Amino acid sequence: MSIAEFPSDWSSALVLVAHPDDPEYGMAAAVDEVEFWGFPDSELFNTPELREKIAETIVRVNPDIVLSLYGGPEWGPGLPNQRDHIEFAAAVVEAFDELPDPPRGLFVNGPGSTHAVEVDDFTELAVDSLAEHDVYLSVLAPDTPVIDQARAQVDMTTGSIDGFPAARACGLTQIRPV
Ligand SMILES: [Zn+2]
Repeated sequence: MSIAEFPSDWSSALVLVAHPDDPEYGMAAAVDEVEFWGFPDSELFNTPELREKIAETIVRVNPDIVLSLYGGPEWGPGLPNQRDHIEFAAAVVEAFDELPDPPRGLFVNGPGSTHAVEVDDFTELAVDSLAEHDVYLSVLAPDTPVIDQARAQVDMTTGSIDGFPAARACGLTQIRPV
């Protein structure tokens, strides 16, 4: 399988995830702005309200591309995806498809990457940025130092990918345009 280099001819990306500790959030650590919408954890559903919030945000931010969650049933054999993620990912796709003038692409971070981007030089930056969200992380796991949690998060989402020549890469699957 060959994996294409992630396109670099864009300047803004919007990252949409269900929870502040989602893997994509780790890779999003270098983005400028993070919004929390306050939909209840573990009770996320693909509702008109959620789709409207997603659509409104995409239109307002007007990014070149959107990165979101993997919405398939499982990450691999015996590794089921979380229901919140499946619901959220479906809402993103539906909201995206309803936009009259959608961004150039929608990518998700999950199995079966079509594209990858080398992140060899960016992991420390990502760890530091993620660690800045220390209030959230310290509530999430009070017994683990925030910097260790941030590093684990980044390590989990970057590694070598078969067919792509980089020690650390982030794999992405293009789902729009199909
Ligand atoms: Zn999550």
